[in-house]
Amino acid sequence: MASLHVSPISLSARLKFLTDIFKTRDNGRTIFSALLVLVLGAYYISKKKQQGKFISNLSEVGSVSGRTRLEDEFDIIVVGGGTSGCALAVRLSEDSSIRVLLLEAGGSGRALPFSRMPAGSGRLFRSNHVFPLYTVPQVFAKDKKIFWPRAKLLGGCSSINAQMAQYGAPEDYDEWARHIGDDSWSWKHFQKYFRKFEKYIPDARYPEVDASVRGNSGPVRVGYFNTVSKTAKAFVESCIRTGIPFTPDFNGPKGTLGTNRIMTYVDQNYERVSSESAYLTPDVLARPNLKVAVNATATRILFENVDGEIRAVGVEYASSALGTRYCSRARREVILSAGAVHSPHILLLSGVGPAEQLKAHSIPVVKDLPGVGANLVDHCVFDIGFKDKHNDFPLIVKAKGPLDVLKIISSMIQYSVLGIGGPLAMNFGEYAAFVRSDDPTLFPPVEFPKQLEDSTSSENSPDLEIFTTPFAYKDHGATLFDVFTRALHVYLLRPNSRGTITLKSANAFDFPIINPNYLQSSDDVEKLMRGVKLCLRIAQQEPLRSYIDYSSGRSDLDQELHRKSDEELRELVRERVETVYHPTSTCRMAPMDQDGVVDSDLRVYGIKGLRVCDASFFPWIVSGHTAGACFAAAEKLADLIKTGLCCLNCNAFQHSTVTSFRVHSTDPLTHRWHDTFVGGRCCHLHLSVSVKAMVLLRRSLENNLLNFGT
Ligand SMILES: Cc1cc2nc3c(=O)[nH]c(=O)nc-3n(C[C@H](O)[C@H](O)[C@H](O)COP(=O)(O)OP(=O)(O)OC[C@H]3O[C@@H](n4cnc5c(N)ncnc54)[C@H](O)[C@@H]3O)c2cc1C
Repeated sequence: MASLHVSPISLSARLKFLTDIFKTRDNGRTIFSALLVLVLGAYYISKKKQQGKFISNLSEVGSVSGRTRLEDEFDIIVVGGGTSGCALAVRLSEDSSIRVLLLEAGGSGRALPFSRMPAGSGRLFRSNHVFPLYTVPQVFAKDKKIFWPRAKLLGGCSSINAQMAQYGAPEDYDEWARHIGDDSWSWKHFQKYFRKFEKYIPDARYPEVDASVRGNSGPVRVGYFNTVSKTAKAFVESCIRTGIPFTPDFNGPKGTLGTNRIMTYVDQNYERVSSESAYLTPDVLARPNLKVAVNATATRILFENVDGEIRAVGVEYASSALGTRYCSRARREVILSAGAVHSPHILLLSGVGPAEQLKAHSIPVVKDLPGVGANLVDHCVFDIGFKDKHNDFPLIVKAKGPLDVLKIISSMIQYSVLGIGGPLAMNFGEYAAFVRSDDPTLFPPVEFPKQLEDSTSSENSPDLEIFTTPFAYKDHGATLFDVFTRALHVYLLRPNSRGTITLKSANAFDFPIINPNYLQSSDDVEKLMRGVKLCLRIAQQEPLRSYIDYSSGRSDLDQELHRKSDEELRELVRERVETVYHPTSTCRMAPMDQDGVVDSDLRVYGIKGLRVCDASFFPWIVSGHTAGACFAAAEKLADLIKTGLCCLNCNAFQHSTVTSFRVHSTDPLTHRWHDTFVGGRCCHLHLSVSVKAMVLLRRSLENNLLNFGT
C-alpha cells in the first residue's frame, strides 16, 4: 500500500522564506523583522495541522520499468491539481469505486502563508511556486515581452489569483451552447454547477444580493469577507455619476452590466478560498481511492492502439527535467487540467496537435489536431495610477520610519493574532464596473464615431471592465511607488486578437512559446482606448476626484493623462498593455473543423479515454473573471462521468435479477485474458458488490464482455 508523506518543505526553508518577507518590508529593521517572523511563525504552526497529506515519493503511484503494479493503476488520472483539477478529482473520488490519481507539478498552496493571506499572492509571482513564463515580443504592442505568471501549486491559479468572484455574463454560456450544439452548456442548465460549487450565506450589509440564485452549500465560500479600503467606496459613487448604473450583484439575475463591490473568494476567517483549500480537505485526502502526487510534472500521455482505436492509457511524469520518469496507468480516462498553457503543451508533447509542428520537433504524430494551442485569447489591461491625497493606505509599501513599521506590525497582529482580518485581508480588486464600449450614454457617437465590431455574447454582455485597487503598481507589483497611490484599471473582456501556444522543443521541461498577439486587432486598441477615457472621466467625478492629487507633479503617475489626444492614448495603450492573467481557449470546445479540440463532453477528438477540463476548453473567453467557469465545468464533468458510469452499470442490469455472475475481462496493461468469478448480489438498478468487482464489471461492460452466470 502507498504510504502518505507530508510535503517536504524544511522548517529552515520556511523560516528563511518568512525572514525574506520582512527584509523587504522594513529595510533591515531586524528587531521588527524578528517580531513579525514570530507572529507569522505562530500563524504557520497553527495552520500546519490543516495541511493535507500528499504523495511526494512518486514510486508509490508510478513505476519506472513499464511493468505496472496494481498500485500504479487508476481508473482516472487527472493531470494538474489546479482550479479545475482539484475540483474534478475530488468530485470523482466521491464515488468510492473510482480510483483517482491527481498529478500536480507543484506542492501545496495552503502550506504557503502568502497564498492563504488574501494580500500576499503577489509575493509568489517571482517564486518557484509559479511558472515564470513570458510571451514572445508582442509585435502590436511595441515588441514588449510580457510576464505571464501561471501557478505551479495545488489549487493552481486559484492559489495565486486576485480572488475576484465574478463569472462572466450568463449569455457567454448560451453562446458556448449554441456553438457546440449542446444546450447543457447554456446558462439555463449550466448555472446549477455554479451553485453547486458556491457557498454564499446572505450578508446583512448586502440585502440587494438575491441569495436564492446563489449556492449555499458548496465547498467554495464566496462573499464580502475581504477588507476594502475607504477610498474604494468612492469609486462606485463616481461611476454612478458618470452614467454607469448600480447593479445589485454582478452574478445575479439582473445581469453583469453596472457597478458595485465585487464578491471574493475569501472566507469568514479572512483566508483565500482556493480549489485546494475548498476541495482537498483532510477528510477528502483520507479517501483510500484518491491519491494526490505533488512535484509530479506530466511529461506525456501514453497511448495504445486498442482494436484499431487510439486510446489514452496512462501518463508519464517526473519531478525534474533529469529526474526518473514514472508511469501510471489509467483504466478509463486521462483528464488534462493543467491550464490554458500546459494542457495544450502536454498534448503537443504527446503527439496530439498540428502534424507539421509535431514533425518539426520529431514527435511522432498520434493525432493531427490543428486546434491544439490555437485560439489563445487573454484579457489585456491598461493600468492608470494616481497620487492619493489622503496618505492613509494601511499597508505600507516601503516603510520609511517607525510609524510605518508600527502600521505593518499592527496589520500582522490584526490578521494573525486577533483574527480580525485588517489590511492583510485585502484582495486589492475591490469594486468594479462592467460596461459596453458601444454604450451611447458613455461613449456618445459624436465623440466616438467609429463603428466597432460587436464581440460580445449579447446586448446585455459587457466588453470592458474597470476596477480599482488601493495602490498603483508596475511590472506586476514588482515596482511600487514611494507615495500613496490609487489605481484604476480597464480591461478588455472580449478581444478579437488571437494567439498561439507552440512547442519550443520536445523537452517537457522547456516552456512552450506563448504568443497572445495582443492588440493585433485595431478594434481591441480602440475599445481599450475608450475604456481609458472612461476611467479618466470617473476619476474626475466626485467623490473620487477629491482623493486624487491632481496637482502632483509626478510624471511617473497619470494625473495628466486626460490631456492626451486619442492618438496619443492609442500609442500609450500599445506601450503599456499588460496581461490580466486570464488565458483561455487553447483546446477549444468547438466543432473539429473550427479548430475544435474537444467535443461537448470535453473528449479529445479522435482519441478514446482523453479529455481536457480547464480554461483551455472555453470556446470563447467569458466577459468576466475565469476561475468560476473552471470550477463549474469541473463540477459538470464530474457529474457527467459519474452518471455515465452509473448508467453503464444500470442499463446492463435493468431487467435482470442476478445473484452471481462471471466476468471475462482483459488486463488493459498486458491484454491478457482473465476469467474472474465474482460473486455478489444484483437487483434492479442497484448492485451490491465489492469495489474490485465493480471495476471489473465496468471494464467488461465497456468491452461487451460480460456473461451472466445466472
Ligand atoms: C495573478 C492572477 C490573477 C487572477 N485573478 C483572477 C480573479 O481575481 N478572479 C478569477 O476568477 N480569475 C482570476 N485569474 C484567472 C483564474 O485564476 C484562472 O483562469 C483559473 O484559475 C485557471 O484554472 P485552470 O484550472 O485552467 O488552471 P490552473 O488553475 O492554472 O491549474 C493548472 C494546474 O496544472 C498544474 N500543471 C501545469 N503543468 C503541469 C504538468 N505538466 N504536470 C502536472 N501538473 C501541471 C499547475 O501547477 C496548476 O496547478 C487570475 C489568474 C492569475 C494568474
